[in-house]
Amino acid sequence: MDLLNTLVDKGLRREPPTRDEALAVLATSDDDLLDVVAAAGKVRRHWFGRRVKLNYLVNLKSGLCPEDCSYCSQRLGSKADILKYTWLKPEEAAAAAGAGVAGGAKRVCLVASGRGPTDRDVDRVSKTIAAIKEQNEDVEVCACLGLLSDGQAERLREAGADAYNHNLNTSEATYGDITTTHTYADRVETVRQAQAAGLSACSGLIAGMGESDEDLVDVVFALRELDPDSVPVNFLIPFEGTPLAKEWNLTPQRCLRILAMARFVCPDVEVRLAGGREVHLRSLQPLALHLANSIFLGDYLTSEGQAGKADLEMIADAGFEVEGADERTLPEHRADLAAGGHGPCGDANGEGVCGGSPGSVPPAERARTDLVAVRRRGTGTELPPNA
Ligand code: SF4
Repeated sequence: MDLLNTLVDKGLRREPPTRDEALAVLATSDDDLLDVVAAAGKVRRHWFGRRVKLNYLVNLKSGLCPEDCSYCSQRLGSKADILKYTWLKPEEAAAAAGAGVAGGAKRVCLVASGRGPTDRDVDRVSKTIAAIKEQNEDVEVCACLGLLSDGQAERLREAGADAYNHNLNTSEATYGDITTTHTYADRVETVRQAQAAGLSACSGLIAGMGESDEDLVDVVFALRELDPDSVPVNFLIPFEGTPLAKEWNLTPQRCLRILAMARFVCPDVEVRLAGGREVHLRSLQPLALHLANSIFLGDYLTSEGQAGKADLEMIADAGFEVEGADERTLPEHRADLAAGGHGPCGDANGEGVCGGSPGSVPPAERARTDLVAVRRRGTGTELPPNA
């Protein structure tokens, strides 16, 4: 297929596809799916080999958020029966992080619900970062605390944070349909603040919220322009008790096309397979490893992922290997940029949705509510974590 040859050539040169080419990837047929995966897989292997970086989420503060992000089980007015608890103590968070590191995680993502941290919250998180690094000197720590105020990114950087995550989530044009309590511009500004402070930026999206192909292409191109070092691609988990509970828009094939498009647009960036992979990719998860070079290990913020052991087996069975602490994640040219103080990393949101052209199957028949399990283990419970 000429389109795919062109996209591979561009990806190897770090040249972006045109919007029409990105849209064409999303419009490919199921007959062409393996060709699309193979083509994007060439780009993935060129920049990242067969390495898979493991990231581990620690939900520092769960639920009770005053913001109204429609996709989120922790939102204002959410009826989802999730765990709710206030800030973990630094030693509790360090114990949870240690379990993830023992399972092979190279990065720990410290996430707290809320609009953004107070200065006291930044103090707490700083102590938590110190406790984690005392036990695991080499682990990367990414903070995801919402919208940042002046000076907070610098304080987190000084406390030892390596990265900051804040997702754009969806296109600028549809952002107001998803959230009313803050704006797309607020999110962009926080990512820029993190980058300016020398934190590695992580910023991604949630697919499956009812957005169009154009919206998906818009948000991925906006991310390319923002230039984070990592781009988490979440697939909406339609939690009962949230406004998007009925948005079962995704198929495994569509998820793969979305990941392939993200890889072609952001060829040398860490594309992370994030929330919703078990629910929406299901038995096709191993194919996604040919597109993404990074995944979350174990559970998500408020829902349970597949067993950490199953993640590790999947990686090995598919012929990939877990990236070691002594291996560089980003290609040399990007690692240099990151060290020079550019770019934060996106939002590990609370298990969003994914949208697009769902095909002819109505959402009610596509719903796999049986695969959505509210988290009942790990932080905030008496049970051991999944790592
Ligand atoms: S995504 Fe973050 S800011 Fe939005 S409702 Fe959920 S916890 Fe709050």
